[in-house]
Amino acid sequence: MSILMLHPVFKDAIWGGKLLKNFGYEEAGDNAGECWGISAHQNGDCTVANGEFAGKKLSWCYENHRELFGNIKEDVFPLLIKIIGAEDDLSIQVHPNNEYAAEHENGALGKTECWYVLQADEGTKMVMGHHAKTKDEFVKAIENDDYENLLNSFEINKGDFFYIPSGTLHAICSGSLIYEAQQSSDITYRVYDYHRKDKDGKERQLHVQQSIDVTTVPSNNDSNKLFTNTHLDHGSKTRYVESEFFTVDCYRMEGENIVVNDKPFQMVSILEGEGTLDGQAVKKGDHFIVCSDQKEVVYDGVMTLMITTL
Ligand code: ZN
Repeated sequence: MSILMLHPVFKDAIWGGKLLKNFGYEEAGDNAGECWGISAHQNGDCTVANGEFAGKKLSWCYENHRELFGNIKEDVFPLLIKIIGAEDDLSIQVHPNNEYAAEHENGALGKTECWYVLQADEGTKMVMGHHAKTKDEFVKAIENDDYENLLNSFEINKGDFFYIPSGTLHAICSGSLIYEAQQSSDITYRVYDYHRKDKDGKERQLHVQQSIDVTTVPSNNDSNKLFTNTHLDHGSKTRYVESEFFTVDCYRMEGENIVVNDKPFQMVSILEGEGTLDGQAVKKGDHFIVCSDQKEVVYDGVMTLMITTL
């Protein structure tokens, strides 16, 4: 078994809507916010769709067939791939690093993540980082509810990419469809939620003290905009990030290309178009894992693929 096709897990959110359905996911509800495309996390464990492990959870495969994943030593499957569709603004949030999460969140992983913008309405914004120069300034702005001046926000466009180390204040805003690669963690500290109330008139729980603890001050607001491009036989490859947690490459293909698998495994998501993978039909929205024993894959078609690896 060399390629694990996966059934995504869909999650509703108060900021969700029809963007995931419009992307092509018929099973997404009208309030869906997240598609967990490749996940072995307990809060959304994907099911294998093909081959001898059909019907098994990805966490089960990782537990019982570690050889598929290059016999890596991590206790839990380390990465998680999502498609996020935001019809409303997400809360302003921050994630802890591994050390803080291990100590304060029952040994959970921290969360460094990255985003690739699949689609953005005209004028759609994003929050990334803040303008406080000291922790004092940061705390004062929070106490004064002065998010207008605190937050670093800007307009985004289709094709933008952002690397978001743990400790970075961030938020996706309404009108965004985003590909996300992240450490396999579900730990989010919400610092501000626009004082939104749910249908019972309650605001969602905030985690202000944790947010203050883990947010990096001052923040680095200059995100990398220079990426390395290389030619493929029929198309091009862009390396968006190579970090201690993951490497993310985008393949824009126009015809046949062979992609070598020189990592423990590759997490592949088709973001646009359709084609074949070793002769088998694949299309936009599909997520799969190229396992350790598969040394290369022949892709054919006009499509955009994101490949995330350790
Ligand atoms: Zn996040």
